[in-house]
Amino acid sequence: MTDSTPIPDNFATRLISWQRQHGRHDLPWQATRNPYHVWLSEIMLQQTQVATVIAYYLRFLELFPTLPDLAAASQDQVLAAWSGLGYYSRARNLHKAAQQIMNVFGGKFPQDVQQVAELPGIGPSTAAAICAFSFGQRHAILDGNVKRVLCRFFGIDGFPGQKAVENQLWQIARQLAPQQDIEAYTQAQMDLGATVCIRGKPQCLICPLQQDCVARQQGRTTTLPTPRPKKAIPERETVMLLISDGQRLLLLKRPPTGIWGGMWSFPEVDSTLAAENWCLTHLGMAAEALPPLAEFVHVFTHFRLTITPLPMRVAKAPAVNESTCLWLTPAEANAAGIPAPVRKILASVHGT
Ligand code: SF4
Repeated sequence: MTDSTPIPDNFATRLISWQRQHGRHDLPWQATRNPYHVWLSEIMLQQTQVATVIAYYLRFLELFPTLPDLAAASQDQVLAAWSGLGYYSRARNLHKAAQQIMNVFGGKFPQDVQQVAELPGIGPSTAAAICAFSFGQRHAILDGNVKRVLCRFFGIDGFPGQKAVENQLWQIARQLAPQQDIEAYTQAQMDLGATVCIRGKPQCLICPLQQDCVARQQGRTTTLPTPRPKKAIPERETVMLLISDGQRLLLLKRPPTGIWGGMWSFPEVDSTLAAENWCLTHLGMAAEALPPLAEFVHVFTHFRLTITPLPMRVAKAPAVNESTCLWLTPAEANAAGIPAPVRKILASVHGT
């Protein structure tokens, strides 16, 4: 698309009437205008499918029914409620933002889209969606689904994560946002991208935009949007020490930032050779290394981590500093904020 390409004036109308007939209407967060609830759903939905989010969303609100409840909770409680959803920086930022809203805005969710966008973990698109759904404000959104629909509909080349392409998409998205029915339009874009104009093979035959979609007309639905330029994903390796006194396992609190920040995980060393030395240095006692369990790969956005779980046995659990180090039974560990690979190891060893 270029500056001279016309924006179809019925784009929003078509999407809104499609949404009313075919869109999603019964999701738990659609029955509310409470900005705390809307915000929570938007953050959970950022990297997770709707079907998974529903149970987590309902449980989270049972645990932290109001924004002040969330702000007053400990980070451990918040991470435990998020455990299994992945991308834990979302939970840490949610918690931080709730505290910021209490301190800076007296507990009242801000209504200014700029102020919302500046809260931890909320960018311009999420802020726009929150303000549209909670306060009926007219703003454009530009999440992954919307980018895909716009790239295809207007035939825009270039990876949508590139600044120039993204700026172009924002400009179009702003022009398309209707003066009325912004909530239905915002939901329509999300629903269309999630159910019709999907990744891979889009369902053009049932799409309300099919008559004038450039990708469809030009047979480019499988090549648009342009994929991210390929680069090799780095490989890393780690050995997780499953140090047990026969009943409990040793878990360490990870540093507050970085991967799995603030969560409970097993001690790690670079190779099995370093395991016994770790126990001598950190626990002040020898530990017997048992045969390692089968290694497995955990994939992050930016690298692949090969994990070797190494069971170890100590005769007696030494006392530890409980702010950063805990001896937990497998059931207690499962109830704590632990990352997915730790949960997987516990399940394979203890069937929990
Ligand atoms: S016609 Fe097909 S490619 Fe175009 S917007 Fe609709 S589903 Fe997407």
